[in-house]
Amino acid sequence: MQALSEKGTALLAKFKKFQKLSLVLYALAAMAFVFAGNILLTIIIVALDIFLEIKLYRCPHCGKGLDCRRRVNEDTVCPKCEKYIFRGL
Ligand SMILES: [Zn+2]
Repeated sequence: MQALSEKGTALLAKFKKFQKLSLVLYALAAMAFVFAGNILLTIIIVALDIFLEIKLYRCPHCGKGLDCRRRVNEDTVCPKCEKYIFRGL
């Protein structure tokens, strides 16, 4: 297998960073709900996470939104266009 291009590597790093951010946001939302009892804040945090996921977490080839709870690595294939997500960029 060929190494990823600079763009592919950057995108993979971005996706991984986003997965971590998403976990943090969900933890924050859970805390806002459980400890603060603040449903509005919970909804805002979850909405922010979903918004970011829809906006950033997409296949660069066909634009399909991806499932951010799925693990990604350099050989991850898009479920729609079946191209390697991080290759050929
Ligand atoms: Zn695709």
